Amino acid sequence: MSRTSDKTPPVELGTPVQFLKGCGAQRAELLARLGIATARDLLFFFPRDYQDLTDLRGIDQLEEGPLLSVLGTVEEVDLADRGMGRSVLGVLVRQQRDYLRALWFNQPFLRDKFKRGQTLLLSGKAKHRAGRWQMIHPHVQVVDTEQSLPKGQLLPVYPLTEGLAQRHVRQLVRRALDSCADKIEEVFPTSYLDQHELLPIKAALPQLHFPSSRESLEQARRRFIYQELLILQLALALNRQHVEQALKAFPLELTAKIDARIRRLFPFELTAGQNQAVAEIAADMGRGHPMNRLLQGDVGSGKTIVAVYAMLLAVAHAAQVVLMASTEVLARQHVETLERLLAGSHTRLGLLTGSQTPRARQDLLAQIASGEIQIVIGTQAVVAGEVPFSRLGLVVIDEQHKFGVRQRAALKNSAIHPHYLVMTATPIPRTISMTLFGDLDITTLKDSPPGRQNVHTYFPPEEERARWWEFFRKKLREGRQGYVIVPLVDGSEQVQAANLEETYEHLANGELEAFRIGLIHGRLTPDEKHSAMEAFRGGQTQVLVATSVVEVGVDVANATLMAIEGAERFGLAQLHQLRGRISRGSFPGYCCLFANAGTDEAVERLKAFVVSNDGFHLAEVDFALRGPGDLLGTRQHGLPPLRIADLARDAAVVEEARRDARLLVDADPGLEQADHALLRRMALVRYGKSLKLGDVG
Ligand code: ADP
Ligand code: MG
Repeated sequence: MSRTSDKTPPVELGTPVQFLKGCGAQRAELLARLGIATARDLLFFFPRDYQDLTDLRGIDQLEEGPLLSVLGTVEEVDLADRGMGRSVLGVLVRQQRDYLRALWFNQPFLRDKFKRGQTLLLSGKAKHRAGRWQMIHPHVQVVDTEQSLPKGQLLPVYPLTEGLAQRHVRQLVRRALDSCADKIEEVFPTSYLDQHELLPIKAALPQLHFPSSRESLEQARRRFIYQELLILQLALALNRQHVEQALKAFPLELTAKIDARIRRLFPFELTAGQNQAVAEIAADMGRGHPMNRLLQGDVGSGKTIVAVYAMLLAVAHAAQVVLMASTEVLARQHVETLERLLAGSHTRLGLLTGSQTPRARQDLLAQIASGEIQIVIGTQAVVAGEVPFSRLGLVVIDEQHKFGVRQRAALKNSAIHPHYLVMTATPIPRTISMTLFGDLDITTLKDSPPGRQNVHTYFPPEEERARWWEFFRKKLREGRQGYVIVPLVDGSEQVQAANLEETYEHLANGELEAFRIGLIHGRLTPDEKHSAMEAFRGGQTQVLVATSVVEVGVDVANATLMAIEGAERFGLAQLHQLRGRISRGSFPGYCCLFANAGTDEAVERLKAFVVSNDGFHLAEVDFALRGPGDLLGTRQHGLPPLRIADLARDAAVVEEARRDARLLVDADPGLEQADHALLRRMALVRYGKSLKLGDVG
């Protein structure tokens, strides 16, 4: 403990924590590990949770119904394994002479959290069963026993580090609040606070740490959640505004003549949705600043042709186009589609692949540089960066969902910027698209091409396997084709290939003995993959045993059957992508899942998949079940993580913040006004680097 007297200088926001009473050098070092250096940092060190002591009961005072809290010591921990991934963890908690049993199903890993003699604070709904009180899946916190718990309060629970106790952090935060919370500057203009019913920061901060009630905690949290999301959306809106106003692009206007010339090449009429999408894209491309548009639509909704339209519009203006696909299989497929469409035109295509000889690549690059080649196609990895376009007008990125904002900047370094059209691999939940692609305008294809058949999906018990294969064979004999999907079993491609070959051998010598079977997986060379795909497309092979190589984009209309092994290993978005492969033609599709679904979550996921064919709906289900992790791993999208907001939980606030952010930058471009200065600075400080916003300021 450091000795401080009343004569120490007053604590300012910037005062290093070690000068706070009760801190000292050693504790300051521990706090530094948590990123806390100053009194201000303490104020903004948000609790990760709260101990709810507002309804703390004795076990003898419990009742069924309301949410209650109980304090007691761990008497006994037992874990019963019931096989098939099922288990029950029981923790017996004692309070003087009374006992309560806390139960957790299928979470065996929680066992290590509990030790005999620990004091626990359990919150949940109590149930009386067989003369005993129990709580199922209660919220549980290990309580620091040295500390006496004040009744009737919500206490903050902070993230800690080894050597630092909860009560120390509480004490220091309390001190920081008492000495300098009133010095913290307001972020929003007063009128803005009123309009949006936000607590002023000086009132909200103390309530966030030491709430006087649930209601005031909620109000305080709302203020900071809103603030955090608004800052993010402001950064995205500033970025968007910058792209729209400061950057130049070739204006590629659509005329009636160009429109007719493009449509003449198409083998079918566009759907109403495709026409709408084309109109939005053409309007963007006609302007002298770069388009930044996301085209999303369910699997098979016909995004490709919309992109081709945009590409041909650029080519009509003698601008070059680059189309980037996520895999080489897809890149080659695009080349074929385009070659078919452009058979009668003079447009020249160039395919850049990783397997080309340096010589071939040099040749292509020379032709791109001279402008002889108008449309360049390749994988993102191969194309990004160093291709010497002579007049690049449009960049199309197909099936992107793995990365967001930062990578798109890769090609933008000449004075004239290309237009951007990004297509997503999968429908994404709205809150995610508004964040990950928040600076993009969004076009959504809602209808699908006519005559599209639904896919029937089954999730039968193991015993019915034979029946499925019988059905599979019947359809093959009718002339259809099918996929058998084998999951990634392990990080190693070798193991995966072995697994795949085993399935292949098994089928080739068993259920599908009489049929021609092909194989495709990640260990094949691009050429081998290509010929495997071609053999399947041409019908030489009837069944393709594959890994998720076929997941995205592959388009073989006659393939209507799909068996997915180990379906529990796939996420919903991925399953939906897979199933999308068999809804392409005019015959109905049949998809059968075989799974060893060990958890409730997996069962729920697979059941949701069986009953819905709607990718947007499934994306929302996945998001609700598993959170944003898959889609929005922080490492993937390149934005710093959120500190208090949660995209799944706070979806409504995301919408609100996005709308408000756009209104703000529309009313005050660049946020130049004095009372927006702090908002602007916060957006730049937090996101300037990841969004390359530096030049805005
Ligand atoms: P995705 O949106 O998944 O990329 P694709 O662009 O591959 O879908 O289109 C799926 C299939 O629908 C393709 O075979 C394509 O030729 C066909 N298609 C697209 N638009 C139409 C249309 N307007 N009429 C008929 N068929 C169409
Ligand atoms: Mg596609």
